[in-house]
Amino acid sequence: MVGGAVLVTPAPLANPRQVESAMATLSNAAKRRNIRPAEPAPESYHLSSGAGLVLEIRRGYQFWLYAARPLASDYGTAFHLERAGGPAEGYDVCLDGANSSCDCPDATYRQRQCKRQRLLAAYLAGDVKGGAA
Ligand SMILES: [Zn+2]
Repeated sequence: MVGGAVLVTPAPLANPRQVESAMATLSNAAKRRNIRPAEPAPESYHLSSGAGLVLEIRRGYQFWLYAARPLASDYGTAFHLERAGGPAEGYDVCLDGANSSCDCPDATYRQRQCKRQRLLAAYLAGDVKGGAA
């Protein structure tokens, strides 16, 4: 029956202009990303509450929590950082000036100072915010 076919036709979107506007916003955001890489959000380093020493990196809306345990090391200052409240991952970080290291992928493959090294450096410099009660 013919009338039934009309009922099958999808209802038009409530407000096509809103949809267009949302799409324009998306494409503008994409254009901006192409023109200029996003500035990295500034990181801050915090003492967090928890058993033992727990350190936190905050970057924008992201955060990383690490339980930090000192490691014996022949040189520099070494810690094992075990991720808490996130994917299970743990890294050995050793701070020793230009010879600092971390066995995370960022430091290993990209060969740069990773956020864990920055976190530990901030902690050792007494440059972490907040603190456990
Ligand atoms: Zn690392």
